[in-house]
Amino acid sequence: MPLHIQTPYIRSQAASRRLGKDVLLKIEAMQPSGSFKLRGVGAVCDARRAAGARRFVSSSGGNAGIAVAYAGRELGVPVLVVVPESTSARARDLIRLEGAELIVHGASWAEANTFAQSVIGAHDAFVHPFDDPVLWRGHATMIDEMAAAGPKPDAVVLAVGGGGLLCGVLEGLARNGWRDVPVVAAETQGADCYARSVAQGRPFELPGITSIATSLGAKRPCDAAVEWATRHAVDNVVVSDAAAVAASLRFLDEHRILVEPACGAALAALDAASPVLAAASRIAVIVCGGVTATVEHLQALSSRAR
Ligand SMILES: *Cc1c(COP(=O)(O)O)cnc(C)c1O
Repeated sequence: MPLHIQTPYIRSQAASRRLGKDVLLKIEAMQPSGSFKLRGVGAVCDARRAAGARRFVSSSGGNAGIAVAYAGRELGVPVLVVVPESTSARARDLIRLEGAELIVHGASWAEANTFAQSVIGAHDAFVHPFDDPVLWRGHATMIDEMAAAGPKPDAVVLAVGGGGLLCGVLEGLARNGWRDVPVVAAETQGADCYARSVAQGRPFELPGITSIATSLGAKRPCDAAVEWATRHAVDNVVVSDAAAVAASLRFLDEHRILVEPACGAALAALDAASPVLAAASRIAVIVCGGVTATVEHLQALSSRAR
């Protein structure tokens, strides 16, 4: 039994009417850990446990760390999550709520990650948040479900951070005979390492992350995500933080589901000028979810995001 669940795949009447197209939503926000991450992380944790791992280690204070904590609790395997001081109280609470051991170390993620790597023992498995083929295979199951539900979309819209979701979706499209379905890769300004990488034809590292969409805050995408763009149609869309937050708030009103601005970026991309979207009449959006924002937080962001 996988650790993730089969999620709803529904038509958004509001978005469909607004765009004059069929807009279908894959509601990954309904995963028990609150984001799509559980698909890949669950697959990785299952595989590592079968290979003898006695503890899972993560250095993500976001949805990946929460998914590892969830998977460990479900599998009866102890989990250590090392996060930097910048990690919000809410994220720390959510990791502890899943029963994981939490260590707060260093000012930045790089320091927390170095510490996490240094404590990994022979029987520990480090779970990477986006760069692992087993993780991508797990993420690909969302496309298996969409293909089984039918009809084939003309485009798939998703958010990109480090590119793990993108690699999984592209693998899923390929294994379901949907290699001709283009992907719209959405990022926020200041977290747009993937758009820059695709434009340059090689991985590009941002000097820092300035976007408030923290779950998209990888400085550099994984190599595999950049390589995919050479053999599958990928349209990069970069939206403002303000547009991402507004899209999350509108989604809450329309669908009564709270998602992070990271996910709002994908929803906001629907309104962007994209040749792929202009040509599409049926659009599938991966509603990737995310649990680190509250309604209050979104409202505060919406009064100051640009
Ligand atoms: C991790 C995450 C992303 C980005 O996924 P990558 O695999 O890093 O590209 C987008 N949205 C949410 C809510 C996430 O948790």
